[in-house]
Amino acid sequence: MSEITAYIMMFLLVAFILEPLFRAPRQMYLNMPHTPSVMNEWLYQKRVAAEIIGDLDFDHQTGKLSDSDYRALKDSQEQVVSELDEKIRRNTTTQSDEMSKKLMADIEKAKKQLAQQLILVCPQCGHRMTRDAKFCSQCGAKLN
Ligand SMILES: [Zn+2]
Repeated sequence: MSEITAYIMMFLLVAFILEPLFRAPRQMYLNMPHTPSVMNEWLYQKRVAAEIIGDLDFDHQTGKLSDSDYRALKDSQEQVVSELDEKIRRNTTTQSDEMSKKLMADIEKAKKQLAQQLILVCPQCGHRMTRDAKFCSQCGAKLN
């Protein structure tokens, strides 16, 4: 068996072993925003690719792998890594941007609601209360 065939067999074997692990989350989150589980899957796939590249480097250095085979195999793995990097980078930005936007909107909304509610000022002590208060919660003065 030639070196290249051995590597192809190894890739197929790795893909065969790992595929069921990734299939369930992928279907589950198909129409959902990317979750930490999907992110972990990408990070894991990236680690696998990095390990394969490490093996290729070693085999090339020790002369087990020809220059052309090494480059072809390494290029394909580096392509995988860069695609994963891009996915991870894009997802991280999108998620944090959306989250901070939502958070800022929620804070603004809460502030407005609070401002609308806290419009009653006690004539005795100046304590600010919700609109529907009958008595001052600070000094007990009757309101209205
Ligand atoms: Zn008061």
